[in-house]
Amino acid sequence: MRAPLAWLLFALGAAIPSVAVLVVALRAASTESARAREEQLAERVATAQAIQRDVDAALARAKEALRRLEPAAVSRLEPRLMAEKPDFADVVVMGAEGQLLVPKPMSDEPPSPPGCLTDRAELLKGDRIAARDRIVGGCPHLKSEQGRYLWPLLALERVAEGSTPAEAIASWIDEHATRLAPAERSVLRARVTPLPEEVRGAILRALARPLALPRTLAALLTEPRGSDSVEAGLRIHRGRYLALVRPMPEGLEAGFVVHEASMIGAPGVPAHLVLAPGARRDATDVALTPELVVHVEPKDGAALDAQARRSGHRILAVGVAGLLTAVALAAVLFARARKAQRLAELRTDFVAAVSHELRTPLASVRMLSELLEAGDLPNDERPEVERTLAGEARRLSATVERMLRFGALARGRLSVQKSRMRAACILEDARDRFHKAHPDKEIIVDAPKSLEMDVDPALVGLALDNLLSNAAKYAAEGHPYRIEARRDGHHALLSVSDSGPGIAACAQRRIFSPFERADDRLSRATEGTGVGLSLVRGVARAHGGDAFVKSTVGVGSTFVVRVPMEGS
Ligand code: ADP
Repeated sequence: MRAPLAWLLFALGAAIPSVAVLVVALRAASTESARAREEQLAERVATAQAIQRDVDAALARAKEALRRLEPAAVSRLEPRLMAEKPDFADVVVMGAEGQLLVPKPMSDEPPSPPGCLTDRAELLKGDRIAARDRIVGGCPHLKSEQGRYLWPLLALERVAEGSTPAEAIASWIDEHATRLAPAERSVLRARVTPLPEEVRGAILRALARPLALPRTLAALLTEPRGSDSVEAGLRIHRGRYLALVRPMPEGLEAGFVVHEASMIGAPGVPAHLVLAPGARRDATDVALTPELVVHVEPKDGAALDAQARRSGHRILAVGVAGLLTAVALAAVLFARARKAQRLAELRTDFVAAVSHELRTPLASVRMLSELLEAGDLPNDERPEVERTLAGEARRLSATVERMLRFGALARGRLSVQKSRMRAACILEDARDRFHKAHPDKEIIVDAPKSLEMDVDPALVGLALDNLLSNAAKYAAEGHPYRIEARRDGHHALLSVSDSGPGIAACAQRRIFSPFERADDRLSRATEGTGVGLSLVRGVARAHGGDAFVKSTVGVGSTFVVRVPMEGS
């Protein structure tokens, strides 16, 4: 089977299992992504359940603490309640009129110092750096509802750039921390990283302080009491907030209140998860009242999604890498099998070619010697018969010699007996031997008289004989042939050129391998064993050199044997 067809069949054979493996890998990858997502969801559900359990237990403890609470004045009640309150709740004390005593209702925002910008859109206009400098440098006490989110942020950026004292912004955050919403707190937390350790610590501590009751909640708490129930002396309100309050003397009410903002700041949530307002209506919800529900969600949903995808991609990559390795391995094994098969074919061709090369001159020798033996040959024909007989005998011995040398070369036993020779002598001897077999072919010898080389004359002669005999075989009309010797740096080059058909570029390296022949019509029509050029290269390499061909199809070929110059 021809090589391209064999490789095509191999590719087809490999494609079917490859596609199957790819499909399996893709399915495994998507299953893995789904599994990773399920795991993430399971973690959120487990976290929500744990928080719910903790919240319920903390509320039960809070109720108990309230029941044990001794009546006292507002100023003494507050610290006691602070000590008993759950992490996610705020302390409340209301007066007889239902007015909020603790926490102190937020005072109205102080007016902005003159000349400061309070409008956020205005702040972001034009040159931001200059705006920040004006705000941070010129209005450090500005506390507008609009400004507070942007301020510390802008200020922290300036701190990172080294132009604003970090302590100034730290004290601003300290002062305002209890009124910053969870989102504001988390943005600030992310920005403090580049600050010096002590300042960063102070800011983080300030941001960890419980939230102050937002004004809306304060309003809710002072609303007429509608949805309240009474349980063992405690008034319990369940609505958009959960209040556990205990009536105290003089119409006071004291207790705890849980609301959306306080819940979101609840501890016990792993760093990559957050509590977000609103119900998801699934197992990630943590419910305190039918209206006060928060849920557990990833802090960075996109990152978790990417992580799930990455898990899938990893499986896919492993599958594809395994597949590619298997295909590469199969290709290597297939190439080896092809090579072994080709060598076996070449050897069979070789045996047939050798038999043929021996049989033709042997048949002539036998026929001519029988003629001579019969003795009835006219005297004038006898010299011609004797010449032909000698020629065929030479051909036979040249073939046998070539095979023996090739055998020695193949076994690595080509021994080299070097002696100093004149290059011209080597070439002239080769020409003379060639002329005996091909008196009709012209040869031009070109060698500087002074050029001497250290070579094994028998082996180099054998190489030249092979090259010349190839010229006669494959470039029968391409003479005069030219045999040339010259020095090239540290090497001597011996070459045989013809103006024959030339050799295709793709075959020029291959034909120096044992049994290989150029796969053209001329070679197929010409007898040959494919060992001549491998012998030429073996001789050159045995001398520490190499052999190669320069050839152009339709122009001719030059075979070169390059051997190192001794002592150069
Ligand atoms: P063989 O001649 O027995 O086939 P060789 O090893 O001597 O083996 O040559 C290998 C192949 O190189 C030949 O089959 C032929 O295709 C090509 N070749 C060798 N010499 C010439 C040449 N002078 N011109 C064109 N082709 C050549």
